[in-house]
Amino acid sequence: MKLIYELSVSGRSGVRIPVSDVPKAAPLPQSLRRAEPAALPEVAELDLVRHFTGLSRRNYSVDTNFYPLGSCTMKYNAKVMENAGSLFADSHPVLALLPGGPEKVQGPLSLIHGLEQQLAEITGMDEVTTQPLAGAHGEMTGIMVIAAYHKARGQNRRYVIVPDSSHGTNPASAAMAGYEIVTIPTAPYGDMDLDAFRAAMNDQVAAVMMTCPNTLGIFNPHIAEICEIAHQAGALVYYDGANLNAILGKVRPGDVGFDVIHVNLHKTFGTPHGGGGPGSGPVGVKSHLIPYLPTPRVVKGADGTFGVEAHPEGIGRVSDFFGNFAIMARAFAYITMLGREGLIEVSEQAVLNANYMMARLKEEYELPFDITCMHECVFSASRQLKDGVHAIDIAKYLIDRGFHPPTVYFPLNVKEAIMIEPTETESKQTMDSFIAVMLEAAEVARTRPEELHDAPVTTPVGRLDETRAARALQVCCEL
Ligand SMILES: *Cc1c(COP(=O)(O)O)cnc(C)c1O
Repeated sequence: MKLIYELSVSGRSGVRIPVSDVPKAAPLPQSLRRAEPAALPEVAELDLVRHFTGLSRRNYSVDTNFYPLGSCTMKYNAKVMENAGSLFADSHPVLALLPGGPEKVQGPLSLIHGLEQQLAEITGMDEVTTQPLAGAHGEMTGIMVIAAYHKARGQNRRYVIVPDSSHGTNPASAAMAGYEIVTIPTAPYGDMDLDAFRAAMNDQVAAVMMTCPNTLGIFNPHIAEICEIAHQAGALVYYDGANLNAILGKVRPGDVGFDVIHVNLHKTFGTPHGGGGPGSGPVGVKSHLIPYLPTPRVVKGADGTFGVEAHPEGIGRVSDFFGNFAIMARAFAYITMLGREGLIEVSEQAVLNANYMMARLKEEYELPFDITCMHECVFSASRQLKDGVHAIDIAKYLIDRGFHPPTVYFPLNVKEAIMIEPTETESKQTMDSFIAVMLEAAEVARTRPEELHDAPVTTPVGRLDETRAARALQVCCEL
């Protein structure tokens, strides 16, 4: 495919720029003017439409097919969410920060307040801030809130405990907030080793961060006990709730002893994850941590109107504008439209789909932890490895057969990991066609393994040297 610049023909154009009606009070000084016109591509509208449509057809998205990328929840988000996101285009909550502003943006402020209450109810927490802009940002905010809590009690604790199956952002966020990380290994039953945890616990531990369900897709049955052990030593417990579609309406982390949680609106609540788009990682806390939440806060007055209040003991601001507002509008619409019964159905369907996938594929693929999973299941390509086939070969074969690959080589504690998350929005028919191709890949691995090493062969770009692609990135090339 040609670059847009190569389609350029001098004098061709798809737009007519109106004559400027801005008075030329102060002409640009000569030194700031271009010596030559900008070398922009000159193309007709039709050239442009074909060019970008052509590019988009080389893209893979959940609108084109199944996207079982474990830990990313690439579910389908109904198009009506787009409407919700654009409803507030001319009424942004940032106006509330201007004198007399709150009266002008009662709608957006009540939406933020309403979403905070919905999320508090869903997670069992007492207050929520919508400021963080991503899951990892929520983790860092939550750990900073925990640090402020300990500091206010005159304690200077040094460590954050993280199980080895946690999402990589957990130790990274805690380290960013200034803590040293203590990692606890996974026991043979797939959860954090309780004895090792007990041994690591002491009065220097500020917090324990639990990814729930963990990255093996397993819900830890000991969380109440873990919370109790931590609290006895004065530590707080953090729930990484990025994948909340696993437990919606079933468990409220606040009820089992967690002090802090973040959730990913861009995964669970109406916005897709990935693609570098805007995200939102609200943080919920129990009452003892409310004073340390970021400032300012949206508050509801006695007369029912909404205002903005500084929060002097808080950790300060972690973002502008109370976070990414359009994402909040989508989440509010999603939660309101589904309601309690709908949210329960979300988690039931997500878990049912993942268990169906697990049951159908375990004949051919090694299942390191063979117990009921939550929203995702993790296989290992270790059987295929005996024929020289790696997880990456299977992933690339799936591309040839029209599917986005699952997450591979994560979590790190499973060799040749293949992590599949079907999500709640996929039908049995779609899952069956994916399962058929996965079983076929296992068959090819057994009989003609070398074929898998060449995959993908149907794409504009074949097998890449992924290390080199990351180290010597070239974003523009002739395809
Ligand atoms: C996606 C994810 C995160 C991080 O969320 P980002 O918005 O990508 O920063 C954290 N924890 C878990 C378990 C996740 O799946």
